[in-house]
Amino acid sequence: MPTEKSLVIIKPDAMAKGLAGSIISELQNLNLKIIGLKIVDVSRELAKNHYEEHKEKFFFEKLINHLTGKFHENENVIAIVYKGENAIKKIRKLAGKAHPEEADLKTIRGKYGRHNSKTDCYENAIHASDSRENADREINLWFKEEELVK
Ligand code: ADP
Repeated sequence: MPTEKSLVIIKPDAMAKGLAGSIISELQNLNLKIIGLKIVDVSRELAKNHYEEHKEKFFFEKLINHLTGKFHENENVIAIVYKGENAIKKIRKLAGKAHPEEADLKTIRGKYGRHNSKTDCYENAIHASDSRENADREINLWFKEEELVK
């Protein structure tokens, strides 16, 4: 099985609910190694770069407002780089589907996410890289090389 890296972001909705510890505990069961971790006050520029592939989508502005904490009193995020066998697939499986109401109830998004009908935003607790290419791009965006252990 391939050794991969994956970027996880504990989003502002999960931070506001005090779920960072529970989410990290769940991820710990996957037996992956944390090689980088920090709290980030997300700028609009970073959020827009991170979600670049969605820039033409109708929900793009909502996505940026959500990631920068605008819906959660400017809450910050925790960014984590995991490394290990099949890290991307394992984490995506535990994360669950993007729409919290469609996510399996035992997944992180199924347990902790919700669709906020006021903002029409998927408050889905975490981001997890979906491919090797995106993982590399995202990790480079969020972390300097010296912030990661080997
Ligand atoms: P994933 O986060 O599982 O990789 P996507 O790449 O499809 O999912 O979408 C990125 C993020 O955009 C989702 O996590 C969610 O926060 C948001 N999103 C996706 N689709 C919608 C939608 N229809 N309305 C509002 N937000 C959405």
